[in-house]
Amino acid sequence: HYDHIIGLPAFKPIYDRSVKVRLWSGHLAGRMTTRQMVDEFMRPPWFPVRLDVCKASLDYRDFVSGDVLRPREGVVIRTGSLTHPGGCIGYRVEWGGRVVAVITDTEHEPGKLDQAVLGLIEDADLVIYDCAYTEEEMERYRGNGHSTWEQGVKLCEAAGARGLALVHHDPARTDEELDQIEKLAKDRFAGAFAARDGQTLEFPVLSHKAR
Ligand SMILES: [Zn+2]
Repeated sequence: HYDHIIGLPAFKPIYDRSVKVRLWSGHLAGRMTTRQMVDEFMRPPWFPVRLDVCKASLDYRDFVSGDVLRPREGVVIRTGSLTHPGGCIGYRVEWGGRVVAVITDTEHEPGKLDQAVLGLIEDADLVIYDCAYTEEEMERYRGNGHSTWEQGVKLCEAAGARGLALVHHDPARTDEELDQIEKLAKDRFAGAFAARDGQTLEFPVLSHKAR
């Protein structure tokens, strides 16, 4: 959805003739290809020019949920379906004995742990999780396809994950509210923190054997 792809036209490498960019999508099967989706998104009247202004070599890949992607030597990306209107894919990136899971846009059922999410985040060094709402707010936003920091903590504890990056906050959140949420989350789970723009985290390589 737009909240994840709106930056693509401002991604300078796609205009650079010397660059190769590979674009993937995983829940459009039977509806449109990744190429069609990007072509419909980058065109007038929403954007002044069409895709042919992109001089990079663009390579479009389609996959389906559950596929295991190997975009580079030694890098394994496992995929799974999240619970979001229109679909969303969660990712488990494995490299150098490390695991980072990207779980944006998923709604949990109260009192239940999503097995698909647990599978993706098992024993992860870092889980980047959809913390749009708090449990207290959740009732109002049922059906929007988002989750809470409290659920992120529960999932990480159940899966033995070590780090929890809170992301995908309700757009109306203030910095003060985010500080408060981060503090509450840290008190419950030491590895929790609110992810910041431009933040870099380092995980020293453990081994080059993929898990
Ligand atoms: Zn989103």
